[in-house]
Amino acid sequence: METINLKKLKKKFDLNRRSLRYFITRTENNPPKNLDVLMEDIEKKVWKEVSCLSCANCCKVMSPTYTNADIKRISAHLGMRPKDFKEKWLYREKKDNDWMNRSQPCQFLDMKTNMCTIYEIRPADCADFPHFHKRPATDYFYIHSQNIEYCPATMLMVEKMKEKLKA
Ligand code: SF4
Ligand code: SF4
Repeated sequence: METINLKKLKKKFDLNRRSLRYFITRTENNPPKNLDVLMEDIEKKVWKEVSCLSCANCCKVMSPTYTNADIKRISAHLGMRPKDFKEKWLYREKKDNDWMNRSQPCQFLDMKTNMCTIYEIRPADCADFPHFHKRPATDYFYIHSQNIEYCPATMLMVEKMKEKLKA
């Protein structure tokens, strides 16, 4: 697998921003009948080409949302009270009232290896990212439209879908 060149990805996104997002919205609004099956096939192909350990961009530039169960589980693992855990690392996002990381990169990312130091008990949002397996697939297209700017796997998924649908 090739090492992911994030600068190249950003450039590619900037050059094709409008057409990529237009394609995502159009597919969301007018999906092919077999979209969920198509997503399953494309997802398998994407993970044969992309290694998250050579990227970790989501952990570097985005924040997961933490559910109360995430906070309870992770703080217990660290031997902290949930209250102290929140005070140390999180803030309440105003729009949706979600708990988010105060800073990026994520405090749990090992920058040398790109590995998550709390992988087994990481937030559910991290475990689900980039949400390719969620169904119905169309419910997550607005998220792919946001993530495509940062996530090489999402970019590749959209490119492969464009190719399949000859869009
Ligand atoms: S999910 Fe996307 S952004 Fe995160 S590490 Fe994998 S390819 Fe990179
Ligand atoms: S908790 Fe782990 S997987 Fe989630 S953003 Fe932080 S380093 Fe990445």
